[in-house]
Amino acid sequence: MSILRLYLITVIGKFNIRIVENRGDETMTRYILSTLIILSFIISAGCANSEQNNIKGKDDHTTAMGDIAEETSSMHELPMFLKDQTDNIKTIYKASAASQELLEKIPCYCGCGESVGHKNNYDCFIRENKKNGGVVWDSHGVNCDVCLETAAQSITDYQNGKSIKEIRKEIDQKYKEGYAKPTPTPQV
Ligand SMILES: [Zn+2]
Repeated sequence: MSILRLYLITVIGKFNIRIVENRGDETMTRYILSTLIILSFIISAGCANSEQNNIKGKDDHTTAMGDIAEETSSMHELPMFLKDQTDNIKTIYKASAASQELLEKIPCYCGCGESVGHKNNYDCFIRENKKNGGVVWDSHGVNCDVCLETAAQSITDYQNGKSIKEIRKEIDQKYKEGYAKPTPTPQV
């Protein structure tokens, strides 16, 4: 962004000089000048956004930045932040909400243990269960392939009859190399 902005400032500077030098065609020069100033604002605003997005993307697994919490009345009502997501992601969220007992025993290797204090893979999707049945969803899992895959595989294997112990072993094996430190999830 800064290079583009500098470039524009230089261009605007040149036009300023030209205004001084050449007063004959002031209206046109002013028009171009104001267009450039507006352009510069648009570009810097756009870049600020993309910079923020970059930071968010980069830090998705290292800070809490960008993780949204949203409460619905029950686990059967999905949060609004999933509205434009794929059916796959919605299904995984729904299934995860219904698999608390399993996913609380499965670690997540995306780095969320250190970055946002998650204790297990369930935390990547659900932040809190309220006494009245309300569910506070966490958007963390939406952009995290590791979180999503861990949940999807664990839930599928569990439905196919594997024990939690076996699934835990498989997940630990699958992510032990090349991934972040697992969440501090006690052994089964
Ligand atoms: Zn995670």
